[in-house]
Amino acid sequence: MDKVKPWLGEPKNTIAVLQKYGFVFQKKYGQNFLIDPHVLDKIVAAAGVGPDDFVVEIGPGIGTLTQYLAYAAREVCAVEIDRNLIPILSDTLSGYENVEIINEDILKVDLNRLALEKNGGRPVKVVANLPYYITTPIIMGLFENHVPVDSITVMVQKEVADRMQTGPGSKDYGALSLAVQYYADPYIVANVPPNCFMPRPKVGSAVIRLTRHETLPVKVDDEKLMFSIIRASFNQRRKTLANGLKNSDQLQFTKEEIEQAIQSCGWPPAIRGEALNLEEFAKLANTLSHLRDK
Ligand code: SAM
Repeated sequence: MDKVKPWLGEPKNTIAVLQKYGFVFQKKYGQNFLIDPHVLDKIVAAAGVGPDDFVVEIGPGIGTLTQYLAYAAREVCAVEIDRNLIPILSDTLSGYENVEIINEDILKVDLNRLALEKNGGRPVKVVANLPYYITTPIIMGLFENHVPVDSITVMVQKEVADRMQTGPGSKDYGALSLAVQYYADPYIVANVPPNCFMPRPKVGSAVIRLTRHETLPVKVDDEKLMFSIIRASFNQRRKTLANGLKNSDQLQFTKEEIEQAIQSCGWPPAIRGEALNLEEFAKLANTLSHLRDK
C-alpha cells in the first residue's frame, strides 16, 4: 500500500493536522500523541505485525500509529473514545482501506465478539500507545475476559512497565507483576522520553510487549482465590502474609487455617507476601483451597 497520506510520525505533519482542525487536547483522556518515527517503527516491529495479522489499536488519537499499523497489517480496528477525533481520523486514514474506527470506550467494547467476527476467533494482536489513566484495567480486562490475544504491545508509563516485568525483592513488585506474569511473558522493548510526544507527558514512558503464554506457567485449582490472596498480600505490604490474609474481607479463612497453610508450605510464620513468587502463590492458593474443600 502506498503512503497515501503524510506520515503523522513527522512532527510537522501532526502540527498541520492539529491546526487544520483546531484540535484541543483533552487531558482527561490521556492524550499524548507520538511524534517520533523511530519509536513508531519500533512499536510495530516489536509487535511483529505482518500481513496476516488482525490488529486492535486502543486510542488511535489522530491516527499516527494507526497509519504504521495499517501499512503492516491485514486489518486494523481502532477504538477511540473522543468523538472530536473521528472526523480527523476519517481524513488522516482515508485511503487505508483496511482500517475500521469504532467510536467507543475500550472498556465497553466486547473484544471477544470483535475477534470472533473479524478474525474468526483466532488470536489478535493488540497494539497501542495507551491512555495512562486506564492502563491496568485495559490490560487486566484483556487477560481476565480471555480475549484471544497473541500479544499486547503497548506504550505505558515507565514505572508501570517496570512493575509488570519485575519479581520478588523489588519495590515495584506487586499484584500487577503477578497478574501479568501469570498470563504472559513481559519484555520491555524500549524506554521512551517525554520529547517523543505532543504534548509532553510529565513521566517517562516505555514500550512493553506481553506475549501470552501458550500454557499457563503454574497450575492453580482456583484462579480467583489465588488473585484474592495476591491482592490481600499486597494491600497490606508491611504486614506479614498471615496478617494480610486474616484482615482481608475477600477471604473467608480462619486464623488457624491460614497459619496451617503457611506452615505446610514450609515457610516461616512471619513471612511477608512480597517474598513469594508466582509459583509460591499458586502453592498457597492450592493448599488453602484443599483445606476449604475438605
Ligand atoms: N495512538 C495515538 C498516538 O500514539 O499518537 C494516541 C495515543 S494517546 C496516548 C491515547 C488515546 O486514547 C487518545 O486518543 C485518547 O482519546 C484515547 N482514549 C482515552 N481513553 C480511552 C478509552 N477509554 N477508550 C478508547 N480510547 C481512549
